[in-house]
Amino acid sequence: MDKKQKVLRKLPSVDAIIKSFYGIQWCKTYPRRYVLKAVRDVIDIRRKEILDTGSSDVSIEDMSAAIEIKIKKLSSYSLQPVINATGVVIHTNLGRSVLSDKILDNVKKAAGNYSNLEYNIEEGKRGKRYIHIKRVLKEIIGAEDALVVNNNAAAVLLCLNTLAKGKEVIVSRGELVEIGGSFRLPDVMSASGALLKEIGTTNKTHLYDYKSAINDNTGLILKVHQSNYMITGFTEDVSVKDLKTLSEKSHIPFMYDLGSGCIIDLKSFGIYSEPTVREIVKADVDIITFSGDKLLGGPQGGVIVGKKDYIERLQRNPLTRAVRIDKLTLAAFEATLMEYIDEDKAVRNIPTLNMLLQKPERIRDRAKKIALTLKRQIKNATIAVIEDTSKAGGGSLPEIDFPTYAVSIKPETISVNDLEERLRKGTPAIISRIKEDALMLDARTVRNKDIEELVKGVHAALG
Ligand SMILES: *Cc1c(COP(=O)(O)O)cnc(C)c1O
Repeated sequence: MDKKQKVLRKLPSVDAIIKSFYGIQWCKTYPRRYVLKAVRDVIDIRRKEILDTGSSDVSIEDMSAAIEIKIKKLSSYSLQPVINATGVVIHTNLGRSVLSDKILDNVKKAAGNYSNLEYNIEEGKRGKRYIHIKRVLKEIIGAEDALVVNNNAAAVLLCLNTLAKGKEVIVSRGELVEIGGSFRLPDVMSASGALLKEIGTTNKTHLYDYKSAINDNTGLILKVHQSNYMITGFTEDVSVKDLKTLSEKSHIPFMYDLGSGCIIDLKSFGIYSEPTVREIVKADVDIITFSGDKLLGGPQGGVIVGKKDYIERLQRNPLTRAVRIDKLTLAAFEATLMEYIDEDKAVRNIPTLNMLLQKPERIRDRAKKIALTLKRQIKNATIAVIEDTSKAGGGSLPEIDFPTYAVSIKPETISVNDLEERLRKGTPAIISRIKEDALMLDARTVRNKDIEELVKGVHAALG
């Protein structure tokens, strides 16, 4: 008999593996369906190896490691935590804002118990879900009324549909934004049933452009924050104050899509930035929309604040039901907003703000700690701490470079691209960036609790 045939005969059957010590353990821990699939796959691979090369390990013991890796892969969740070493705090691809344990505790309470989500405990009858964030929003930004929906895209869609369906919405050509992931203002506008009335030019729009665009079918004056780009040089746009005056004179509501929606004044941190939501509310803008998970640092959501009349009209729109937020998000929102009652606390306790506003020396200390631990374990790479800059991300504060510190790694035995790929494909995945010929681990977004796994991951990738 051929030698290959002999080896093939020794290959254990699916049944033998399932009934072995290993099989029994796996079936206790993992779904049987995945155990079976992994066993069959590995047997197939081994059979091919025998036929191709004539040799392979064929004992159950030899095969067990490969089978277990497959079972684990099959039974693991698709959505999984990663280590963000990019330095981009509001990283859209990596889930934007991270929530604190305190906020998550509140989510757990709301989701794991019955609650007064839509029940008025005082009166013993049906209540409203939006009540739970209204009071705190009033407190921190001074708005008359508020509504929260699934995300800011939904907020804009809902406002346009409610206030301007079949009517013209005046927008400056300098503000026809596209945010990543297919949010393009002209497209949202047409989906809402409102008619886009573009005015001005890319770099300059004047008050008279707005004035001359107004006609009997004008439904709304819309200002949109240029979240993720800047127009510099020979430019001009119209102030919120002037637009408010025009809106009052012409009896046309005025809406401002703030995009990120900054609640605390970043100027006190030396960051020149956009006006706070409170300042826009003070300017008496009728309707203001912004995201929950950008600079606010909360869960995905869209906040709509403004005049009571308009908010009530929004609530009567059947679309509101279609874009309403769930109780988990609502719980996360309320807990996040409560942190803002005391701004110092917000900066300390909201991870997005904390990572963005932390002192460079603290980032440097963390980078040094990571580098030192790595240097102790790794001999086949040049490791150093370097000064660099990071970005806010999420289309927020695009013009600002935040000074940061990164651990730079130049591998000696593999290419820097290989190192990036190995880190990305590890467990947990480590997402880094490459600058020139080095791999960068920006310590801004690496939390203390990530350090141990980060070091392990780099060690494994270079090992
Ligand atoms: C980000 C952004 C949106 C979309 O907000 P999501 O919460 O991502 O849906 C809309 N408008 C502007 C100006 C933005 O910056």
